[in-house]
Amino acid sequence: MNIDEIQQKATETGVEMHSLMTELYPICRSITGNGVRETLRVIKKSVPMEIHEVPTGTKVFDWTVPKEWNINDAYIVCPNGKKIAEFKKSNIHVLNYSIPMRKKMKFSELMEHLFTLPQHPDWIPYLTSYYKDNWGFCISHREYEKLVKEDNGANADYEVVIDSELKDGSLTYGELYIRGENEDEILISTYLCHPSLCNDNLSGVVLAVELAKQIIALGGKHKFSYRIIFIPETIGAITWLSLNEGRIKNIKHGLVATCCGDSGKMTYKKSRKGDATIDKAVEKILVDSGEPHEIVDFFPSGSDERQFCSPAFDMPVGSLMRTMYGKFPEYHTSADNLDFVKPEALANTFACYLRTLNILENNVTYINQNPKCEPQLGRRGLYRMIGGQKDGGNKDAIDELAVFWVLNQSDGSNSLLDIACKSGIKFEQIRLAADALRDAGLLKEKN
Ligand code: ZN
Repeated sequence: MNIDEIQQKATETGVEMHSLMTELYPICRSITGNGVRETLRVIKKSVPMEIHEVPTGTKVFDWTVPKEWNINDAYIVCPNGKKIAEFKKSNIHVLNYSIPMRKKMKFSELMEHLFTLPQHPDWIPYLTSYYKDNWGFCISHREYEKLVKEDNGANADYEVVIDSELKDGSLTYGELYIRGENEDEILISTYLCHPSLCNDNLSGVVLAVELAKQIIALGGKHKFSYRIIFIPETIGAITWLSLNEGRIKNIKHGLVATCCGDSGKMTYKKSRKGDATIDKAVEKILVDSGEPHEIVDFFPSGSDERQFCSPAFDMPVGSLMRTMYGKFPEYHTSADNLDFVKPEALANTFACYLRTLNILENNVTYINQNPKCEPQLGRRGLYRMIGGQKDGGNKDAIDELAVFWVLNQSDGSNSLLDIACKSGIKFEQIRLAADALRDAGLLKEKN
């Protein structure tokens, strides 16, 4: 696929991704439970995938798969009979993983379990309590202030209802393997444990689905095999790594897809290695895009790259996103909604992913077959293909400088990506030059 085709494809998919997001948005997800299953069932309509269930109590490295959480309803009935914090209106009203609760209590007790965001008084925060038994409600700060005012020290009862269930069950995740020409794999990992929140991280989920569709459409005509996993964050990554330790050696490159749809600039968080091929490839496409972007070194907090890049694994996995989690005010609040994520932004991120994969698929290391001085290009018909003033309009024309760079650097120690990075020439131009030189017998792929 060339760069123009990638752009074309990406523009078409922006709306498609947003519409899948709209379908998944209402589902109440968590790290376990029916919300994850329902989400995977919807995704499975567009891409085939294996769904794994890992029983509660399974030891996964230092962790244990927790009890499964499901919820039907939750709300508070105020003394005046008004129902507030209704789960059915917004599933983030309930502290995710809240234990079941049905109790009448005074405001003084209730207020210990109410969470708000004073700096954004109209937004509902999103909070969880996975590994500590707790219950609670997240409400807007404005609603909270109203409650304080209405209660006014009265000794009236509030009825708290959380119709949830925590019991032995399983942790669910989805995995899709797309076989390529060889066993080396590219891993795309995304997490689906957040309820009605869009940028973090339905955007990553829908992007991974579209990538899968795109790769499947190639009908196996790609060098790498692809493994795309839809897992609950942290515990899901730990579980997957624990069950797939033998597979890790095959994974040559990987990306964690998160926060792919806000209108901010692209951000790349490097792998722990910092100089892995994936790091160079993403950096190259961001530089070549000419658009504002940010590249940050690995740090051991964040998303599932934390597990993939833990010292025993140290996988070449980075994270390609737009505005980083935690860096946009809407993060983990009700304002991270369907309006916050834009189809155009999703499309642009998707194009960045495709361009990165395009580099990885075409990143060959060649050996110059005529390394003693420059070969005579004219004799081989290569000068006719080289674009210059004569051929300025031809986008497939070969860049003369790219030809010299490829010839000079192809001593077996530099890949085409290395040459593109060193020369500052776009990867696509380097690849076109290399293709022509290879066809003219001047380059041979290194084994
Ligand atoms: Zn999050």
